[in-house]
Amino acid sequence: MKAAQLFGKEDLRIVDIAKPEINSDEVLLKVKASAICGTDVRMLKNGHKKASESNPLTLGHEIAGEIAEVGANISAYKAGDRVAVAPNLGCGVCDLCVSGNTHMCRSSEALGVTIAGAFAEYMVIPAEAVRQGNICKIGSNTSFEDAALAEPFSCVYNAFELYGVNPGDCVVIIGAGPIGLMHAKLAKMAGAGKIIINDLNTERLAECKEIDSMFLTMDGNNFEENLMKETGGRGADVVITACPAPSAQQAALRIAAIFGRINYFGGLPAGKSEVALDTNEIHYKQLTITGMTRQSLRQFRTCLSLIEQNLVKVSDLISTKSALKDLEAAINRSSRGEGLKNMVVF
Ligand SMILES: [Zn+2]
Ligand SMILES: [Zn+2]
Repeated sequence: MKAAQLFGKEDLRIVDIAKPEINSDEVLLKVKASAICGTDVRMLKNGHKKASESNPLTLGHEIAGEIAEVGANISAYKAGDRVAVAPNLGCGVCDLCVSGNTHMCRSSEALGVTIAGAFAEYMVIPAEAVRQGNICKIGSNTSFEDAALAEPFSCVYNAFELYGVNPGDCVVIIGAGPIGLMHAKLAKMAGAGKIIINDLNTERLAECKEIDSMFLTMDGNNFEENLMKETGGRGADVVITACPAPSAQQAALRIAAIFGRINYFGGLPAGKSEVALDTNEIHYKQLTITGMTRQSLRQFRTCLSLIEQNLVKVSDLISTKSALKDLEAAINRSSRGEGLKNMVVF
């Protein structure tokens, strides 16, 4: 079978490898859709400790497909089931795992990041992932492409649970990529009064407008002044930094309203994460600042259900669908910020 494997920095190859065999506690998935995200871009650009010439790694962690085969001990799934698969698995026995936070387990692994993922015709779902409930069935009305987006969407939902949107809130999102738009869509569903998306890339802002004309957009020109004007000097109830920029983290403190909630969604590049912050903004405005990473299985399933019920539409975030052989070109498009979600389909 064909797989896209990372052999090191800037070294992604489409290789022919043996179709994997499963043991009695594993599931074999025939991959149907696998979306590209910033993690894939970074892993290709910087290399990864789990990917080497002698031990190449199959990437792809936003996963949907059809079950091809199940191990003899498995009764919950059968061949032909349409599923989305959450990528993070824990040890299963530590306090974090037992509390439902397998994604925060200190010895967690992730499909497509530390173990073989979904940029391949077939992939093994390991026994721990099967037992923990990472495989989630989807109905025939939900496309594999939409189901694959439950992964990034549930990362966004993890943050959404932390910052909370009250009816009428003004929500500002810095970063007009697919993640920023997912925050915007959730904010709208929760009844936000005003949703403002800020980005330096005006083409991306135009795409946001096309997706929903309710979204207000602001480019980099005098953004903070314009935002304060737009909110009558109050600032934003919620600010989300959906970009890897220290300056966005600084701006978020200044544009937050009194009692504002800020989520630092985008991580910063290694070596750039020490940021000078005016902590008096936090003190005197009584701000709440949260971080986030990955998603719990509960959040993953909630998001799949939101997608399945059409409460949040994600299909309009998919810009291109490529064959596996064109993965590198698609990753490079994502890296240049071209299109929203780029995806491999089989
Ligand atoms: Zn991702
Ligand atoms: Zn654990």
